[in-house]
Amino acid sequence: MSINYDLHTHSTASDGTLSPNELIQRAVSVEIDVLALTDHDTLDGLAEAQATADQHDIIFVPGVEISVTWHNTTIHVVGLHVNHTSQTLQNYLNGLHGFRRWRAQEIGHRLAKHGITNAFEGAEALSNGKLIGRSHFARFLVQQGFASNEKQVFKHFLVPGKPGHVPSQWAKLEDAIAWILQAGGQAILAHPGRYKINQQVLRQLVGLFKEMGGCALEVISSSHTWDKQIIMARLANEFKLLSSVGSDFHNPQNAWMTFGSLPALPAGCIPIWQDWGYTK
Ligand code: AMP
Ligand code: MN
Ligand code: MN
Ligand code: MN
Repeated sequence: MSINYDLHTHSTASDGTLSPNELIQRAVSVEIDVLALTDHDTLDGLAEAQATADQHDIIFVPGVEISVTWHNTTIHVVGLHVNHTSQTLQNYLNGLHGFRRWRAQEIGHRLAKHGITNAFEGAEALSNGKLIGRSHFARFLVQQGFASNEKQVFKHFLVPGKPGHVPSQWAKLEDAIAWILQAGGQAILAHPGRYKINQQVLRQLVGLFKEMGGCALEVISSSHTWDKQIIMARLANEFKLLSSVGSDFHNPQNAWMTFGSLPALPAGCIPIWQDWGYTK
């Protein structure tokens, strides 16, 4: 029987809406066999997720999704099988938390100038004392009636050229990959079809990613249309990279999320789990 993998998901430790415990229970209910929790820039939810997984028939993979700035573009690098007790990785990620907090305050100031008050306080309350991200602002603005859904908030308030946009300075690509490798993990370029860069620049990114020690491209992602899956599969094979699959699940309210029923990898891809040794 084939094994059902989902190697990219979020919890309340970053910008997901389910706790790590609830996420694992939901993964079990949709018959996922191997699940990775990959919260943005934090290892906070991993111990809780592992503890719940230990009580169910599911294999848990500890992960992280690190925010990177490369050529003025925000890139996400997923780390899988990272040692989540690594103090070194924790320390590196703490640096990004400082920037996140400063950025959140700055988003609050900028939105206030635009007539939207207390957005920082609102977003912070929704983050429950955990890491704060733009999704928390999006949820707060929806609650306050500034838009009908989170996507609309991003479009009208949080992206470049809009009132609440703050330019980001995340980790360097080579650093994020090195942190993951040092913590014993494998580095995967997340949703490569989502970046607003042309094919030539994407090829440059993929080449560099491999040179720096990255091992896989996320070929199947909720961010990828069918044609993007095929393009990424070809790119992975051409650059001799492995292929990964992940829903990028954040919120059960978003119906487009295919949690538990991701498409299979296109023929010819070498799955990232080829040497993991999991059987069913
Ligand atoms: P941050 O790391 O705080 O800048 O936030 C990035 C996160 O915002 C992504 O991981 C998504 O969860 C969310 N996001 C980004 N763009 C959109 C969008 N257009 N609609 C909904 N959520 C988005
Ligand atoms: Mn997110
Ligand atoms: Mn991402
Ligand atoms: Mn993600």
